[in-house]
Amino acid sequence: MTEPIHVPKMITPVQLEIERKLGIPDHSLTLEKLKKWQLDRLNDTLAFCMNHSPFYKEKLADFSNSIPLRSLEELQQLPFTTSDDISEKGHRMVCTSQSQIERIVTLNTSGTTGTAKRIYFTKDDQQLTVDFFAYGMSTLISSHSKVLVLLPCHPAGSVGDLLSRAIRKIGAQPYSIGPFNNPDPINDLIASEKLDALVGAPKQVYTLVQSWKSSNRGSCPIQALLLSTDYASPILKKSIESAWNCDVLEHYGMTEAGLGVGVDCYLKRGYHLREADLYFELIDKDGNPVAEGEPGEVVFSTLTRHGMPLIRYRTKDISQIIPGECPCGTVLSTYKWISKRMQNEDSLCTIAELDDILFQIPEINGFDATAKKGTLYLKIYSDEQNKEELKIKISESILNTFPGVNKIEIELLAGFPSSAFSLQKKKIEYIS
Ligand SMILES: [Zn+2]
Repeated sequence: MTEPIHVPKMITPVQLEIERKLGIPDHSLTLEKLKKWQLDRLNDTLAFCMNHSPFYKEKLADFSNSIPLRSLEELQQLPFTTSDDISEKGHRMVCTSQSQIERIVTLNTSGTTGTAKRIYFTKDDQQLTVDFFAYGMSTLISSHSKVLVLLPCHPAGSVGDLLSRAIRKIGAQPYSIGPFNNPDPINDLIASEKLDALVGAPKQVYTLVQSWKSSNRGSCPIQALLLSTDYASPILKKSIESAWNCDVLEHYGMTEAGLGVGVDCYLKRGYHLREADLYFELIDKDGNPVAEGEPGEVVFSTLTRHGMPLIRYRTKDISQIIPGECPCGTVLSTYKWISKRMQNEDSLCTIAELDDILFQIPEINGFDATAKKGTLYLKIYSDEQNKEELKIKISESILNTFPGVNKIEIELLAGFPSSAFSLQKKKIEYIS
């Protein structure tokens, strides 16, 4: 199997977009210029929030002597914003009149309050996302590309819709299909229209690959694809790459951060982040900055949004900066792909760890997992005929890997789990 060579070798377009924003020539960004921009925009945002957001007016009242900040480090004195804050008081964070709000995204929350989170965007906020998506996508597509979009495209302003607008902006053609629950017609479309690029969620795309292989369709026209919305196991990426002989890149997205956060460059080492629109910190569990190169929780502040700016928002995603410069030539840092979220200490294993183990078994199309104390219940979806052998293989891999799992119960089913077609982040359901 040869290494795919579809994605052109070039500096990450994420840097080019930052240079456009800063109004400086291509390839002229320095960290000093970036930091100055970030500090200026942070101070603009803080002043704007204190004038327009009842929530931040109250929250930052005791810190008004520290604002404007004299350095980016001084941001560490300010309090964090949490997911619960958004659930409980999100409407008080909105800085514009309701008539200026173009789109409200409601997110199911796993927070303590059980209330849904609502994120508010103005038309200009949405345009920032489209601009970022256009640059991000130009890592893997050109003006001739035909791009299948499997992220939700309705209603207007949904992630797939903004992405489709970005694809059109490059001059390429989006096929805005959105989520599906039967891989066959989607594969028919890829084959008949000779689609050469795709954006979708890892497990969703994996159903296409498994179904493509089982129907012996031969070589696939897809040359490059971008995985988004959930953890992409390295083994799953490798399976997709080798089945379709295509490049597989990752996008880091989050609604709170304006949907787009970062994207791989052609080297596929980790994300370069949208640092002209967002200022990032990595913190330890006590809220202090981590040492260079250490893992920590991703915290961001918005620099250019007006509908609902966020200051020091704790994402619960764990990442770290990959040491050294990226050979693509950018001055931007490279952030490790998100494989972990902050979680309860007593969990048996994470869903990402289960993905890493189970997708090593090529007969598995997908799975759902439930846990109760030390027992792990797995529904495995596979078209394998030799069921007993498969069960033994799965049990052995799990029990050898996770010492906390005392017992495992496996149910084998045909086809694909419905969770593979859902764009909710997958997780292990814990029953008390
Ligand atoms: Zn790079």
